[in-house]
Amino acid sequence: MAPEIKFTKLFINGQFVDSQSGKTFPVVNPSTGKVICQVSEGDKADIDLAVEAANEAFKLGSTWRTMDASARGRLMEKLAGLIERDMHYLAQLETYNNGKPLKDAVFDIYGAIYALKYYAGWADKIHGQSIPADGNVFVVTRKEPVGVAGQIIPWNFPILMVAWKWGPALATGCTVVMKPAEQTPLTALYMAHLTIEAGFPPGVINVVNGFGATAGAALASHEHVQKIAFTGSTAVGKLIMEAAAKSNLKRVSLELGGKSPIVVFPDVDLDKAVQTCHAAVFANMGQCCCAGTRTFVHESIYDQFVEKATELARKRKLGDPFGEVDQGPQVSELQFNRIMALIEAGKKEGAGLKVGGQRHGSEGYFIEPTVFVDVQDDMRIAKEEIFGPVQQIMKFSTMEEVIKRANDTHYGLAAGILTNDINKALTFSQAVNAGTVWVNCFLHVTAQAPFGGFKQSGIGREMGEEGIHSYLEMKTVTISMSKF
Ligand code: ADP
Repeated sequence: MAPEIKFTKLFINGQFVDSQSGKTFPVVNPSTGKVICQVSEGDKADIDLAVEAANEAFKLGSTWRTMDASARGRLMEKLAGLIERDMHYLAQLETYNNGKPLKDAVFDIYGAIYALKYYAGWADKIHGQSIPADGNVFVVTRKEPVGVAGQIIPWNFPILMVAWKWGPALATGCTVVMKPAEQTPLTALYMAHLTIEAGFPPGVINVVNGFGATAGAALASHEHVQKIAFTGSTAVGKLIMEAAAKSNLKRVSLELGGKSPIVVFPDVDLDKAVQTCHAAVFANMGQCCCAGTRTFVHESIYDQFVEKATELARKRKLGDPFGEVDQGPQVSELQFNRIMALIEAGKKEGAGLKVGGQRHGSEGYFIEPTVFVDVQDDMRIAKEEIFGPVQQIMKFSTMEEVIKRANDTHYGLAAGILTNDINKALTFSQAVNAGTVWVNCFLHVTAQAPFGGFKQSGIGREMGEEGIHSYLEMKTVTISMSKF
């Protein structure tokens, strides 16, 4: 089942090159814990070269800067087409490196294609205004690309995150230096190769593998990077913002952690509600920043809900992600250990463990689907992001109470409510502090709608029209006019 590994070096100025230090690091298959291959390890010296190439590609008069905006859009369409052509290979590579079930990898690739096509459409539709300013002047605004964009992405949706980041950057005419997560660089490298086949000029897109504290930090603090877009943990998001502020005040957009509530009222179809809450937390092995990790269930249906949710988790099929399964391994040993430690904390703090809680099998990083009940708001499993297949079920009685509890977190990425009462849905949607509110659904994310967090879940929004703004500078041009 192992797909051929075609690219393992750094992608700088349109070519695959060794790192300056000559160092490499291992990439691991999370299903077995065994090394897949070694990839070149970039650090500051390589980031410098990539940033130089990206600045060169962005120079006034360059092929990229002088290209018609519509032609830029067509290149992006072409890239989306090549991803579609190679979908089978890319899905296998993603599953091999990340551990997600093959069908989930395919789903992500469709998401990536949609995102690139959506932003391809924006390329020639980004424009300013003419303004009736006071005085004898003609005033127009121009929306210009911010310049070289540094992009640091996580390991939970490697292909999708590449598309989410490249889409708005390329549509606006920026150039890119991307650092993929050290755990999952392989699909980003393959996509980098496709950019050359699509016809992007060298230097427009660069991909530097490496670790956060070295390559990532060098990108975030680089003087010649004009914007940094980051998806990952809140702790690292703070470091990125600090590095941006301390260096050149580069623009920052952050998509960070979450501890999203999903609230179930008794007027809904119980089986459907249980299913929605199950998918909300267990999808992608629980490795979604917007996972519904606090399931608030109304007291009148609590016991039935718990029984059904437990049953569903018990039935979840776990195993080789190339097989017909619902769940593969966690991405890494580190993540596996973090999750197991939080499961232990849940047990110690007195939450009721209904199912799971153990490692599955003897190799790889598999964790049994786990359900905790009678979870209290002050337990660690109710407060900290677990990023694993662990559901926390809590009981509530009134809307007022559940809003207060839902908002009692420093995160604010997403929230959900399941009810057929429009007033309840509207009240909750208005009162909850979250960047996305799902009513009678969860995890429904599309290229057309903005996504991002309130509070410590982030800054700015990705996707939709909103997603292009953070890659643009606004310029006001004031032209003196003769009196007429
Ligand atoms: P996780 O803990 O889930 O791996 P992180 O937030 O640590 O999430 O990682 C997300 C991305 O941020 C990865 O690409 C990682 O290499 C990068 N990263 C980690 N630390 C830093 C840092 N200090 N500066 C820049 N990037 C970093």
